[in-house]
Amino acid sequence: GDEDSDSVAPPVPSISASRREHRWGDTTSYAAKKKLQSWFQLPNGRWELGKIVSTSGSESVFSLPDGKVLKVKTDRLVSANPDILDGVDDLMQLSYLNEPSVLYNLEYRYIRDMIYTKAGPVLVAINPFKKVPLYGNEYIESYKRKTIESPHVYAITDTAIREMIRDEVNQSIIISGESGAGKTETAKIAMQYLAALGGGSGIEYEILKTNPILEAFGNAKTLRNDNSSRFSRVVQCTEGERSYHIFYYLCAGAPSTLKGKLNLRSASEYKYLSQSSCHSIVGVDDAEQFRIVMEALDVVHVSKDDQESVFAMLAAVLWLGNISFNVIDNENHVEVVEDEGLFTVAELIGCGVEELKVALSTRKMRVGNDNIVQKLKLSQAIDTRDALAKSIYACLFEWLVEQINKSLAVGKRRTGRSISILDIYGFESFDRNSFEQFCINYANERLQQHFNRHLFKLEQEEYIQDGIDWAKVEFEDNQDCLRLFEKKPLGLLSLLDEESTFPNGTDLTFANKLKQHLKSNSCFRGEREKAFTVSHYAGEVTYDTSGFLEKNRDLLHMDSIQLMSSCSCHLPQKFAANMLAQSEKPVVGPLYKSGGADSQKLSVATKFKGQLFQLMQRLENTTPHFIRCIKPNNLQSAGLYEQELVLQQLRCCGVLEVVRISRSGFPTRMSHQKFARRYGFLLSESVTSQDPLSVSVAILHQFNILPEMYQVGYTKLFFRTGQIGVLEDTRNRT
Ligand code: ATP
Ligand code: MG
Repeated sequence: GDEDSDSVAPPVPSISASRREHRWGDTTSYAAKKKLQSWFQLPNGRWELGKIVSTSGSESVFSLPDGKVLKVKTDRLVSANPDILDGVDDLMQLSYLNEPSVLYNLEYRYIRDMIYTKAGPVLVAINPFKKVPLYGNEYIESYKRKTIESPHVYAITDTAIREMIRDEVNQSIIISGESGAGKTETAKIAMQYLAALGGGSGIEYEILKTNPILEAFGNAKTLRNDNSSRFSRVVQCTEGERSYHIFYYLCAGAPSTLKGKLNLRSASEYKYLSQSSCHSIVGVDDAEQFRIVMEALDVVHVSKDDQESVFAMLAAVLWLGNISFNVIDNENHVEVVEDEGLFTVAELIGCGVEELKVALSTRKMRVGNDNIVQKLKLSQAIDTRDALAKSIYACLFEWLVEQINKSLAVGKRRTGRSISILDIYGFESFDRNSFEQFCINYANERLQQHFNRHLFKLEQEEYIQDGIDWAKVEFEDNQDCLRLFEKKPLGLLSLLDEESTFPNGTDLTFANKLKQHLKSNSCFRGEREKAFTVSHYAGEVTYDTSGFLEKNRDLLHMDSIQLMSSCSCHLPQKFAANMLAQSEKPVVGPLYKSGGADSQKLSVATKFKGQLFQLMQRLENTTPHFIRCIKPNNLQSAGLYEQELVLQQLRCCGVLEVVRISRSGFPTRMSHQKFARRYGFLLSESVTSQDPLSVSVAILHQFNILPEMYQVGYTKLFFRTGQIGVLEDTRNRT
């Protein structure tokens, strides 16, 4: 049966074309025989829809809509769907599930403002970069009453609520996609629906009000997104980007008494903020935003005192960045400059100036049985200062989230069940990939496994229920890649931690170690010098190990934690306890002894893995609902749909994978009755028994549908991709 042969690769440049070839082939021989519509990829990469005029040998004559006629290799043509399937709201309904057909279908909908499309159980959302008329109370009402059926975040959220109530199981809505794809907006739309169900008052209103707070403290302007959800960018900032919004809001909007108390200046006077010349965002009034955040803090019951402590910590972080050092000897040892920065920080966190100076310029160490004090060199002192600033900010964010959660829990009307909304950074593959991409992509590999398992389970359940042979469904998982990361002691994470503890370890020795131990792993490939390549589910990514060891070592020192615990203000004290717990608690993985410091500390990668496992554990106990956000162009502009960019993301975020999984199974399902009714009249000989199953079987025989192309279940017939298309064509021409 060449009807479903997988030997034809569409000529699309892809991240890992070689691994993908077998997946995206689609049969054209049938189309060629019947002279049907097909896709052909022009040299510029765009797919054009045309018609096969004739076929001889391995070549076809192909006519384009503009009248041009081309002679092409038949196996370069990819079957197109009949017009009747244009813009279907679920990609599963397509007879031919190939890349150009999927791209075309999404574009067809996108230009009509239908930004949501289902890909089986997954909701695909394409960022419109403009207001689309799909939201608000009327829509919410309609989805609640189920009078609208088109795919929507509201519909997914509604399903989550119903399943939570029906099955008494916690739910999760997992939103992924690359930066600027619309994850955070989508999360807010889901929250809007949840809040509206509560009548728009009380706790639901308070939950909505947490958004401006979380965004002010957790988001920043990047080159790719003016409101990007970020993690660590307190101490450094790229040109054209900003640090967290809240710093600019505070500097621009603090009332004068607060300004006086915190000794606040304008944003440009702080070193941490002035590394980038970008201080404002078009269309955003920072001072006004500050008032909105203060109001939101009131709504979620953060007391005025606590609010002031929060702002004091923000000011302390900013002033820390202004602390500078004098080199005092020819070994580059330093002492802290006694200036406004130093005095203000001491005042704001409530410690002595002398203690602060000592903590920033020396390190206590234990050598044998003796305690010694070592002077820091300039670069060490700067690292120490920056690590402290970052930790204060991280602790502040965590503390704030905890406060909000506590206050929201006060008047709770809990059923004990929850819906979690996860807004998570997607798979990243740039020209240069570093430690950050390494962590992000590892997390996405885990999420993908969760996703696969869930889909697989769903499919399996349906097949088993209908009594069909499940063994015939192939399934590819990403276990090998995960093992490459997690295996002990010879996996990427273990080897990274090991090298990070060696005083003489460098990025180069790390890279060499990987090449030495992992060269036989099928998901790993050593590259020139300090680089290596990992075959992720979403494609190959080459990582440059420069900076890996440095970023993996936690630079926060015990001396800084001790300083914080001795402060007279209550927040620094709380933070110190938190920092201690975080750096010493063995979450998972081996303890790691940081070079020279006298305490056992966890590496950044190991902490990350621990947090990831906690997250996965939480998710495992929920029924997941998936939303994949897609960015149609890199210009943040409306109406522009770049095929190649969309395709890349569809591959990376696994949407095509869902379709592929379905392809390897039996995605088209029809009840015996419906099948008999729809195609029964095509039978050339009448069947003695009129029961739907007998009629169906007779049709299958007459049309020579091969046994491996379908399965007969108790209530339904299950078909491989494309099979129904053959019958439909005959039906339409009859
Ligand atoms: P990051 O990973 O950087 O946090 P993100 O995926 O969270 O990115 P968003 O901040 O949600 O991206 O979206 C970026 C911008 O795209 C928004 O500020 C908004 O202008 C636009 N946008 C996203 N979704 C929608 C939508 N449904 N309707 C209108 N505009 C949208
Ligand atoms: Mg975001």
